[in-house]
Amino acid sequence: MEDISRPKKGKTKKKLKLFRALTVILAILLVAVSAYTVYSAVSACSEIEDLKSQLNDMRNDLTTMTNENVSLENQVSQLTSKNDDLSRKYDQLNSDTATFQATITDLQTQVSQLNTEKDSLQTELDSVSKQLSTVKNTNSSLTDKNKSLSNQISTLNSTVTTLKNENKALRDTIEGLGQTVPEEGGTDESDDKLTEENTSTSTESSGKIAYLTFDDGVSKYTNDILDILAKYNVKATFFPNWRSGITDYQAKYKRMVDEGHAIGNHTYSHEYKDVYSSLDGFISEVTKLNDKIEDLTGYRPTIFRFPGGSNNTVHKSYNTNIIQPAISALADMGMEYYDWNVDSGDAASSKGASKDTIVKNVLSGATYKKIVILMHDTNTKGTTVQALPEIIEGLIEKGYSFGVLTDGSAPVVQYVKPKN
Ligand SMILES: [Zn+2]
Repeated sequence: MEDISRPKKGKTKKKLKLFRALTVILAILLVAVSAYTVYSAVSACSEIEDLKSQLNDMRNDLTTMTNENVSLENQVSQLTSKNDDLSRKYDQLNSDTATFQATITDLQTQVSQLNTEKDSLQTELDSVSKQLSTVKNTNSSLTDKNKSLSNQISTLNSTVTTLKNENKALRDTIEGLGQTVPEEGGTDESDDKLTEENTSTSTESSGKIAYLTFDDGVSKYTNDILDILAKYNVKATFFPNWRSGITDYQAKYKRMVDEGHAIGNHTYSHEYKDVYSSLDGFISEVTKLNDKIEDLTGYRPTIFRFPGGSNNTVHKSYNTNIIQPAISALADMGMEYYDWNVDSGDAASSKGASKDTIVKNVLSGATYKKIVILMHDTNTKGTTVQALPEIIEGLIEKGYSFGVLTDGSAPVVQYVKPKN
C-alpha cells in the first residue's frame, strides 16, 4: 500500500500547483475585466454628460426657435392684417374707379353736348356777324348819303345866298333905273323896303364863300360849336386830332360827320416831333387818325391840314426837308391839304384872345371871295365859341355863304405849293 500512495502524493502536488496558477490567471483576468468595466463606466458617464450638455444646447435652441416662431407668427398676423387692409382699400379703389369711370362718361357726354351747342352758337354768331356787317355797310352808306345830302343842302344854301345877292344887285339896278327915270315915279312899300335893305347890305359881287375851320379838336367846347352851327344851319370843316382824353370824345367826332360837317385830318397826335421827324412818322400820324375816324364814323377823311400850316418853321427843328415829301405822300393817299387865308387869332396866346378881337380879326380879314378862316376847338378857346355867332352874322351881312372844304372846290389856299 505505501508504494501506491507515494506516486499518488506527487501527482496531487502537481495538480495543486496548476490550480494555483489557474487561480492567479483567473484573478489577473478578473482584475483586468474589473478595470475595463470601471473604465467603461467612467467613459459612459462622460458621454452622458456630453449628451446632457447637448440636450441643454438643444433645449436652448428650441427656446430660441420657439421665440422666433412667436415673433414670426406675430409678423404673419400683422402682415395678414395689412393684407386685409390693402384688400379693403383695393376694393374701395375699384369701387371709386367705377364711379370715376361713370363720371368721366357723363362728362364726356356733357362735353359732346356742349360742343354741339358751341357749333350751333358759332353758326348763329356767324350769321349775326354777317347781319352786323350788312347793317354796318347800310349805316356807312346812309352816313355817306346823309353827308352828301348835307353837302347838297350847303351848296343849295350857298346858291340861295348867291341868288339873294344877285337879287339885291338886280334891286340895286332897278333902284338905279328908278333914280335915272324919275318920271316913272310911284315908289310903293316894297320899293322902300328894298331901299332900306340896300343901305344895310353890302353890294359886293356874289359867289362869296366862307369856310369856317376848327383845328385841334375835340374839346369840351365841341358840342357848343356844333350847337351854334346847327342854330344858323351853317356847315363847317373840322381838322381834329385824336383826343381820347376828352369826355364823350367818340360821340363828338361822330356828331361832326352825322351833322354834315366836313372832317379832315390834322394828324393823330399834333406833336411836331412825331409828325415832322420822318416821312414814315408823318404817314403813320395821318393813317392812324384816318383809321380811327373811319372806325368811328364810317367816313375816311380826304383832306388834311399841316399842324402849324404847310409853311411852318417849327418842322425844321426836326427835319428840314419833310414838307414836299409829305405833300407827295398825301397825294399818294388821295388827300389834299388846306391852309387858311383868314386867321381869327384865337391861338395868339395860350389863353386865346378876347371875343371882340376874334370877331374883329375875322371880319376885317374877310376881304377875299373865298375865305378859309382858321379857328380852334380846344379847352382854352372859350372866347372862340363866344365869338362864333357874331362871326357868322357878320359874314352873312358881308354877303358870304358857307361851304365845307370837301365840296369839291380845289384848295385855293396852300402856302407851300406842291412841286412836280
Ligand atoms: Zn393845329
